[in-house]
Amino acid sequence: KKRIVSGVQPTGSVHLGNYLGAIKNWIALQNTYETLFFIVDLHAITLPYDTKELSKATRDTAAIYLACGIDASKASVFVQSHVHAHVELMWLLSSATPIGWLNRMIQFKEKSRKAGDENVGVALLTYPVLMASDILLYQSDFVPVGEDQKQHLELTRELAERVNYLYGGRKWKKLGGRGGAIFKVPEPLIPPAGARVMSLTDGLSKMSKSAPSDQSRINLLDPKDVIANKIKRCKTDSFPALEFDNPERPECNNLLSVYQLVSGKTKEDVAKECQGLNWGSFKPLLTDALIEHLHPIQVRYEEIHSDSAYLDSVLEEGARKASEIADATLKNVYQAMGFLRR
Ligand code: ATP
Ligand code: MG
Repeated sequence: KKRIVSGVQPTGSVHLGNYLGAIKNWIALQNTYETLFFIVDLHAITLPYDTKELSKATRDTAAIYLACGIDASKASVFVQSHVHAHVELMWLLSSATPIGWLNRMIQFKEKSRKAGDENVGVALLTYPVLMASDILLYQSDFVPVGEDQKQHLELTRELAERVNYLYGGRKWKKLGGRGGAIFKVPEPLIPPAGARVMSLTDGLSKMSKSAPSDQSRINLLDPKDVIANKIKRCKTDSFPALEFDNPERPECNNLLSVYQLVSGKTKEDVAKECQGLNWGSFKPLLTDALIEHLHPIQVRYEEIHSDSAYLDSVLEEGARKASEIADATLKNVYQAMGFLRR
């Protein structure tokens, strides 16, 4: 079976962008592929954070995965820091990563600009190396992510090729060239719609957990009245009627796309349904569709979240299965890089 890995950071609440861009797409994949979905807590400390919140947010995110439909009997669900190999491989990989590659990363530039120099730790720069380690440890074939992670995935691929070239050398060639004796080179899986859900207050920036205003996003656990209020107040425009794909109307395109995805309708149907509507008549439709889609997730979340023994057992078993694969890869890398082994 081909293998798939992906994760979400436990930094604040999981929002519609994480759901439509990532988690929702994992559900279908778990039936066809061997899947590992983790909560990337080590990535969550790359910007200043609250130590009292981290473990709670990690649990909450795990419960959200399951509430959204991740089936723990099919997928391995675990916490990144529970599998030690992630950090260990990261160090080995960082020795093969040119600093120039990291300096080019858009996420680093954007997040460091917003945080201000004094708040930027080295880990924000080396974040993509940890992400590469998350993926390469499992010899993953595909990585389902939103559009914003495309550049990091490209770096992961280049790094895999570089390590295969530097250290996989002879063994790799004997095995018949490309294919990587050390790492498999993974492919991104970016969804055709939902890959970039935009902020409710600015159609040109992506919806984000770390954006300061909660008004800018719909969180999966927002109660009905909060959802209604956020949609009522979200940014729109003063063009007549509603349409997809008008570059001058990023908010309009975003809200129609969200409506399309949560209602399960096709783009054509939504375009037809909405071409005669104005904002006043569209917003209630969108609000209802969102509430209807998120309600069952919220009900399941409450059930799962209150059963902490169950949640613990899922994370325990997930970490055990993940460690088996990860440790085997790590051992290989140490060997290929010439370390004296115990
Ligand atoms: P942060 O602001 O802390 O980076 P985030 O909202 O970007 O948080 P991540 O945990 O970094 O969330 O990303 C988890 C997954 O969600 C990734 O696959 C990412 O590509 C996807 N994702 C994040 N934001 C969006 C978005 N606005 N639209 C679609 N996918 C998204
Ligand atoms: Mg992010």
